Amino acid sequence: LSEHVPELPEVETVAADLRRRVVGATIEDVWSSRQRLRGCRIDVMGLRRAAVGAAIESARRRGKYLLLELSSSRVLLFHLGMTGNLLLAPARLAQAPHTHLVLTLDRLAGRRAGVGDEALELRFVDPRRFGLCRVVARAAQLERVRELAQLGPEPLDAGFSVATLAAALRGLSRDIKSVLMDQRRIAGLGNIYASEVLWTAGIHPRTPAGRLGPVRLARLHGAIRHVLAEAVSNRGTTFRDFADPAGQPGEHLRALHVYQRAGQPCARCQTLIRSVFLGQRSTFFCPRCQRSSR
Ligand SMILES: [Zn+2]
Repeated sequence: LSEHVPELPEVETVAADLRRRVVGATIEDVWSSRQRLRGCRIDVMGLRRAAVGAAIESARRRGKYLLLELSSSRVLLFHLGMTGNLLLAPARLAQAPHTHLVLTLDRLAGRRAGVGDEALELRFVDPRRFGLCRVVARAAQLERVRELAQLGPEPLDAGFSVATLAAALRGLSRDIKSVLMDQRRIAGLGNIYASEVLWTAGIHPRTPAGRLGPVRLARLHGAIRHVLAEAVSNRGTTFRDFADPAGQPGEHLRALHVYQRAGQPCARCQTLIRSVFLGQRSTFFCPRCQRSSR
């Protein structure tokens, strides 16, 4: 099975597309498969109360969560899990297998998206059902939502400085690779981008996080911002499951330097990329460019 799950750039791509294509649309109907997602069933009654007749006022991302703010003062909180996706489709197209939630939008949304004078649907499709969809209360209370309250700082925010990163890592003896993937420390990184960031910064994945000095911290900070921004501009990485709301794959796969490239030459030094298990995940690195773990 592919280990790839949507990370910050993939979720940001979905949020940006939804901002462009569904913000301003009114939700006319809600349908659910009534199957369980991540151990909980979608609350269809709550969802209908929150969404039917409401307009979508904004689409944004926090960590790997996607938030649709509605005019009903409610927010639809999504997590794409391992294989989840939000797809826009004309209502006449048959549902894909594993569709768990459908929001029917008004005809204006369809016209704006260029499908003519017909209803458009926003569909949550998730074959492995590790995703999540929850109705939560609006803005002022969002920071109290359990899933969001625990998240660390946003690495692409203007306020994310070397000092922010240093504070997130201070005193930690765990390896830097696992710490970068810990959503409570920094929001949004998973296995792909943590591997890519460490290669870019020239830091060995087993380095104890709290032991990075000022020079390597600054390099790591620059690498986090650079790698994520580049992946966002490429509309994310697609292996098998991720596609944007129009069903288009992301283009970042060819820009990856180490992830799933074990045995291939490093782009900087031609040494063969290695793969090891770290925190039960495959980790990819260049044994020459990322030499020392101290
Ligand atoms: Zn190398």
